[in-house]
Amino acid sequence: MTKNNMHPEVPVEIAGAGPAGLAAAITLAHAGRKVIVHETYKEVGHRFGGDFQGLENWTTRENVLSVFKSMGLTTDFNARPCRDGTVFNAAGKPYEIKSDEPLFYLIERGPGPDTLDSALLRQAQSLGVEVHFNSRLRHMAGEGILAAGPRAADAIAVGYHFETDMADGYWAICDNELAPQGYAYLLVMNGRGTVKSCMFSGFKQEKLYVQRTVEAFQRLVGLEMKNPQPHGGSGNFRIPQSACSGPHPLVGEQAGFQDTLWGFGMRLAISSGVLAAQSLLNGENYDRLWQRELKPQMETSVVNRALYSLVGNSGYRWFLRQVAKPNLRELLRRQYQPSLIKQLLRPWAKRRYQSRRKDLTCDHIDCHCIWCRGECCVHD
Ligand SMILES: Cc1cc2nc3c(=O)[nH]c(=O)nc-3n(C[C@H](O)[C@H](O)[C@H](O)COP(=O)(O)OP(=O)(O)OC[C@H]3O[C@@H](n4cnc5c(N)ncnc54)[C@H](O)[C@@H]3O)c2cc1C
Repeated sequence: MTKNNMHPEVPVEIAGAGPAGLAAAITLAHAGRKVIVHETYKEVGHRFGGDFQGLENWTTRENVLSVFKSMGLTTDFNARPCRDGTVFNAAGKPYEIKSDEPLFYLIERGPGPDTLDSALLRQAQSLGVEVHFNSRLRHMAGEGILAAGPRAADAIAVGYHFETDMADGYWAICDNELAPQGYAYLLVMNGRGTVKSCMFSGFKQEKLYVQRTVEAFQRLVGLEMKNPQPHGGSGNFRIPQSACSGPHPLVGEQAGFQDTLWGFGMRLAISSGVLAAQSLLNGENYDRLWQRELKPQMETSVVNRALYSLVGNSGYRWFLRQVAKPNLRELLRRQYQPSLIKQLLRPWAKRRYQSRRKDLTCDHIDCHCIWCRGECCVHD
């Protein structure tokens, strides 16, 4: 018997083979538990299909890859350290970013051989985890973890995947005319790239913002796309009262765990998966665990989001002047830590930032934004 009186031979079921679900599965399997992961699609990372994402390296002093290793997770995926880049303001003025240590690692998502998703899958399977593909879990009877991804769209990121002759690099633009209350970004690695408008409002005008984003990167950095394929997705940012559905922990974006400021949700997904598994193994209260380990950072990111949404293009210019200073990683780390001033601003920020809202600029009538196109139907 385990500490919570469950039989180790009875499998734990997990709904969802994303980073959150697979991190939970690996942690349970390391401890000798039988695990069955159900995944709706025929492969891991289906909703990302070759997308590039940034694995942020600024919320902890310790390097994110070392953190993964200390959690018993593989780092056997392509991870390009990103130290230098350029961020533009709305007038096209460039701000160079330099950091001694990687600010983030550029990684690939989806079913390909070198992606984060495939690396976690390989590790889980090598530990004996059964992964059932084309298996959408509708009901969870016994012990299990819910890791099914976003339930609502608080932000969307939309644009293209493409092939290119451009050199590797990353670029971003802070301009509400391209990405309302968010940012536009371009990531290139090994002859492939992704360009996106990551918007927190204005979903109904998605196409217009994507078009402006592509044009801006063409003008500013000579964006060249071969064989562009449309791609997009949504994110759900919410701090729940409880992240349990009955006896079952909710992890990753199904719980609403996200970086509310910019949507760097992978680390929170993975950390919450590990915590949920530990709660089952040790009979600990999961709500207490994530509230202690993850909530302070998430509450700070709500304050950061409320401030970022408020300031507009002129505020972004001030922000970019700070970004261009040396030691950006440390500056960001401090901005993601709780502080007295951010604690005082929290009630105001909570009132300003309402998650799970229906985007007020999208009436969901005759709309083809990424959220209305189907993510709502898949998950509701
Ligand atoms: C376009 C885009 C760009 C992003 N860029 C970044 C970035 O640069 N950095 C970053 O840190 N984060 C980024 N994110 C956010 C990051 O992708 C998510 O936070 C992270 O994937 C959440 O992991 P998860 O395991 O909770 O959910 P998911 O990765 O969504 O995995 C959930 C899985 O559950 C499956 N599923 C759903 N329902 C069921 C069911 N009933 N039964 C079985 N399986 C089910 C789904 O098919 C899916 O495979 C981005 C998101 C988007 C959309």
